[in-house]
Amino acid sequence: MDEQTIAALKEGHPILEDIAQQREVAWINPDRIPFEQARPLQELSMEDIDDAENRLARFAPFIQKCFPETASRKGIIESDLVDIACMRESINAAYDSALAGRLLLKKDSHLAIAGSVKARGGIYEVLKHTEDLALENGLISPEEASDNSPGNTAYAKLADDSAREIFGRYTVQVGSTGNLGMSIGIMSAAVGYHVIVHMSADARQWKKDRLRSFGVEVVEYESDYGEAVRNGRMRSDADPTSYFVDDENSRDLFLGYAVAAKRLPSQLAALDVAVDEEHPLFVYIPCGVGGAPGGISFGLKQVYGDAVHCFFVEPTQAPCMLVGMVSGLNSAISVQDIGLTGLTHADGLAVGRPSGFVGGVMKPHLSGEFTVSDPKLYDYMRDLIAAEDVFLEPSACAAFQGPIRLGLEDVCKDYIEQNDLAKKMANATHIAWATGGSLVPDDIRRSYEQTHLD
Ligand SMILES: *Cc1c(COP(=O)(O)O)cnc(C)c1O
Repeated sequence: MDEQTIAALKEGHPILEDIAQQREVAWINPDRIPFEQARPLQELSMEDIDDAENRLARFAPFIQKCFPETASRKGIIESDLVDIACMRESINAAYDSALAGRLLLKKDSHLAIAGSVKARGGIYEVLKHTEDLALENGLISPEEASDNSPGNTAYAKLADDSAREIFGRYTVQVGSTGNLGMSIGIMSAAVGYHVIVHMSADARQWKKDRLRSFGVEVVEYESDYGEAVRNGRMRSDADPTSYFVDDENSRDLFLGYAVAAKRLPSQLAALDVAVDEEHPLFVYIPCGVGGAPGGISFGLKQVYGDAVHCFFVEPTQAPCMLVGMVSGLNSAISVQDIGLTGLTHADGLAVGRPSGFVGGVMKPHLSGEFTVSDPKLYDYMRDLIAAEDVFLEPSACAAFQGPIRLGLEDVCKDYIEQNDLAKKMANATHIAWATGGSLVPDDIRRSYEQTHLD
C-alpha cells in the first residue's frame, strides 16, 4: 500500500497513527447496530450454530472413544466458567481499574485435546469433514447422520480399525502459528488421516515436537504465517485426496467456535448470573485472525442480543482486526502496511492480516477493541497465578486488558454513557476468555513466569 494512501487513512482515522506508534489504544466500533437490525443482514444464523452443536453431539461417542479424558463430559469438549473475584481485587488494586460487578474466567485454556480455544473450531472442522467422508464412503447412513437423539451412538464405529483404514487414504493440511496446528493435527491423527501442518517461523518448538509425537508431518517455514498458509493451500489443492483447513475463511471453524455461546447460559445460571437488559454481560477475547473471537461473539449475540458487549483484544504489534475495522479496508490492509512488524510474544495472535469474512460478520456486532503491549501480558499472567493459581499462556492473558482498561478509557466511559449502562455496571458480569495455556510444558511455563520485558 503506498504512502499517500496510508497518510490519507491516518488523517481520516487519527487512531491509526497511535496504532502505528505501537501505543495501547481503546476503540469503540461506530458501525455497531441493534442486534435485531443486524441479524437479518447476515449469512449465518442460530440455525447454523444449532446444526454445529448437533453434529458435535453426534460425534460425542466417537470423541469419548478416541480421547478417554473426555469421558467426564461424555465426549463433549467444554471448559469451566469460574469466578475470579481475587483477580478482580488484584487488578483493581494494581491498575486502579475500579471494575464493578463480577469477573469470570472462561477456561478454554483447559479444553481437552488441544489445550486452547482451537479445540472448538479446529476439532469441529475435522469432524465435519470426517462426517462428509464417512457418508461418501458408506461408513454411516444418511439416517444416522440426521439422528440427533442422545441415543445415537452410531458414530462410535468411526473409531474402528476398518474406518481408520479408509480415513488413512486422505490427507488434512493446515497453516498455523501453533495452536490451530495442534488442534487440527491431534484430531486428524486421531481420526486416522495423514496430516501435514505448515508452521510459520514464530511457532514454538515444543508445539512442533508434540505434533510430531502424534505422527503429524510438520513443515517449517522461515517466513511468516501468510507464507505457511499459501504453501499449505497450494500443496493441498494439488492433491484431490487432501483437505485444506482455511483459517481465514472457514465457516465451519467459525461455527465450531460459536457453539461455545450456546453452552454458556447454563454455566452462567450455575453461578447465579443473570444476563438481560438490566444485567449486561461484557466479554473480552484475544484476537488473531479473528475466527475464534468472531465465532464466539457471533454466537453470544445470537443468544443474548444487545445485552452482551463483545470486545476483542490484540497485541500492539499485530492489531490486524483493529486496523481492518478502523480503516474499513478489512482484509485489504495489513499491520505491515502501517509500519508494524506483526511480531509479538503472543504467538497465537501474531497475525498481520485479519479474516475478511470475520471482519464483515462482526462489523454490526462488535462493541470495540483494546490493544495490549507484550510486557503487560507477562504481568497479567503473573497476576493471575498470584491471585487464582491459574496459568494461562501470554496470548490468552491479553483478555485482561479489557476489564483493566474499560473503566479508565474515555471512549469506554462514553460507550457506557451512550448505551445507558452507567447505572447497571454494578450488576454487570465480565468474562475474560482464556484462550490457551494448559499444554505449555513446565520448563516453558517457568521461563514465562520469569520473563520481564520493557
Ligand atoms: C488462535 C488463538 C487466539 C485467537 O484466535 P483467532 O481465530 O486466530 O483470532 C487467541 N488465543 C490463543 C491462545 C490462540 O491460540
